[in-house]
Amino acid sequence: MSFDSLGLAPALLRALADYGYTQPTPIQLAAIPAAMEGHDLLAAAQTGTGKTAAFALPLLQKLSTSGQTMTRRPRALILTPTRELAAQIHDNIRSYGKHMQVSSTTIFGGVSMGPQINALRRGVDVVIATPGRLMDHMQQRTLDLSGVETLVLDEADRMLDMGFLPALKRILAALPKKRQTLLFSATFAPPIKTLAMEFMHNPREISVDTPNAVATLVSHQVHPVDASKKRDLLLHLLSADSRRQSLVFSRTKHGADKLVTYLNASGLRTAAIHGNKSQNARTRALSDFKTGRVTVLVATDIAARGIDIEQLPIVINFDLPSVAEDYVHRIGRTGRAGMEGLAVSLVSHDESGLLHDIRKLLKQDIEINAVTGYEPSAPLRLDAGAPRPKQGGGGQRQARAPQRQPRQGKTATSARPNGYAAPGRGDHAAGNQRRRSSSRPAAKA
Ligand code: AMP
Repeated sequence: MSFDSLGLAPALLRALADYGYTQPTPIQLAAIPAAMEGHDLLAAAQTGTGKTAAFALPLLQKLSTSGQTMTRRPRALILTPTRELAAQIHDNIRSYGKHMQVSSTTIFGGVSMGPQINALRRGVDVVIATPGRLMDHMQQRTLDLSGVETLVLDEADRMLDMGFLPALKRILAALPKKRQTLLFSATFAPPIKTLAMEFMHNPREISVDTPNAVATLVSHQVHPVDASKKRDLLLHLLSADSRRQSLVFSRTKHGADKLVTYLNASGLRTAAIHGNKSQNARTRALSDFKTGRVTVLVATDIAARGIDIEQLPIVINFDLPSVAEDYVHRIGRTGRAGMEGLAVSLVSHDESGLLHDIRKLLKQDIEINAVTGYEPSAPLRLDAGAPRPKQGGGGQRQARAPQRQPRQGKTATSARPNGYAAPGRGDHAAGNQRRRSSSRPAAKA
């Protein structure tokens, strides 16, 4: 099945052809026709499945074929949990809409409000926002939501995890009742269903992946190791191929910073991305990683959520996440769009219980191999009662409490709000049909 048969506007088909996309991914195949018919959608899809285009294409089609554009009343609102994801979606919207007269802007914290207010005043069709800063604009009456015809809730599960439910409810209450709502979520946990029942109209349910399913092209490896030897083992693994781009997850921000110092001192070009960093520093770290200026990016769960890094071969869990679902999100950074990926976890004895939870969630055995020279002094326990790291110490949960985006880093990141290094536009990993076009714009290098 090709994109042509979905009834998309010629301008969209041209943009897709520019990027060498020939076939819709399964989520696109399921969601695009239903969204174009005007239905509300409750779609289960992880990042890496092509879900952004699944909502962006019908949205752009609707905007281009009906009504006035570029007024002070935006016609579409896309809500997403993190700034990086907002910037990434914005890039995608601009790429897919490049042959259309549709304008879009991002609204997120960590940068000054002035340019955002100016963009809204000039008139914009699509606003891509994180809930916290959007609320600021609502309170200051710098944003008029009364013209919103389409609402997209992207990564809805993560927005709830991050404590955005009260903000979401207030935003939803401020939107016109008559609208189309497209909700995308990696999982359909009960609170998502409740939200959908409360705020959506007879939604069509779409699920192309089993909720919590991990990318099938990812292989998992666990290396048991004593906590005291983890850093050395990490360095050993990273040094084996120091040119390979590696994303390393740390459970805590402090732990991430310590790792960066250690790895940089050991000669590996490393940067960190987490919630205590200014938006500028986060944008720079991501951009440096995407362009290859740094080869190791150390991230916490929240900061890395949803980021699309093309051809990322390996994700290393320096610590296991406290919540098994986060493992799925973490390793979703690799094995994307038809590529093979590797997920390596360094697991100390006190994390045995977390590994038990992950194996249970994945419903599959994960190979456990000690690395020679780093064998643990005690074997991992894999039963339900196995030990877990104490909360509050080195292994505390990261940012599940209601959280607003930090406000440091006032300066705007440049005309390109996501700060991606390439001067052009979106570079899209080809999915099922990985055909490259030299003219492909490059936002997601
Ligand atoms: P997403 O799940 O939206 O983060 O998309 C994952 C990656 O797949 C992104 O790099 C997209 O640009 C790419 N992509 C989306 N749709 C297609 C498609 N139909 N064919 C090839 N690549 C795609």
